Amino acid sequence: MLQAPRFIVAAPFFFLRENAMPRILIHACCGPCSLMPIVHLRDEGWEPSLLFFNPNIHPAWEWERRRDAIMEASEKLSVSLMVEGEPQNPGAWVRRLNGVVREGARCRLCYRPRLDLAAARAADLGFDAFTTSLLYSRYQHHDVIREEAELAAEKHAVAFLYRDFREWWYDGIRMSRELGIYRQKWCGCILSMGEALRMQKEAEQIKTAKKAENAARLAAEAEERRLRQEALAAKKARKAKRREQRLAAREA
Ligand code: SF4
Repeated sequence: MLQAPRFIVAAPFFFLRENAMPRILIHACCGPCSLMPIVHLRDEGWEPSLLFFNPNIHPAWEWERRRDAIMEASEKLSVSLMVEGEPQNPGAWVRRLNGVVREGARCRLCYRPRLDLAAARAADLGFDAFTTSLLYSRYQHHDVIREEAELAAEKHAVAFLYRDFREWWYDGIRMSRELGIYRQKWCGCILSMGEALRMQKEAEQIKTAKKAENAARLAAEAEERRLRQEALAAKKARKAKRREQRLAAREA
């Protein structure tokens, strides 16, 4: 049984539809990823609204940070926003995966409830279609998202609008920086957090090893230069000594 949205911010929904633009519900995974879908769907003539529903974001303070970021984006771009759900217990989520923990395979199981709720809300609230900001991210499994969204659309008898928002990847990054919207460092779940931390650690280790390698190379080069200068100085000294000896021999 679906619960009612917890709260709505920014502009209210349109209920008087005559001559109104078609309304689309965008499932918003986070602030930065939602910007280009909002901008470009508006350009196409849609009236967008946002739904933030991403309960497996870990830890809870990160979920709150991303919720605050989407609220900021909705205010700055004057888009309605519904926030649903709360941060889940990460252990319960991992248990529900039933051993399907590999990145990619588990992501399908993560997209499914999010897109299902978006489709259900779109149908219940009379939207003309729904879509998702997950289609903006170059790090997500685009085709899987599309498949899951189409299944959800069929289940709830509502239109799914497919768009490949990835073409505006750099515009989205630029806009999120200009608006000062929080940009997260990992996808969301506890597993992605662990992977991101591991990758970060590996990158730091590589950086440290490269730094040490560079320092050793510079030290070796400096030593080589010092030895060359010493050899040159010794050669000069020998030459000077030989000249002195020649002069002394001539004078004698
Ligand atoms: S990596 Fe991202 S998409 Fe995949 S399961 Fe974790 S939160 Fe979901």
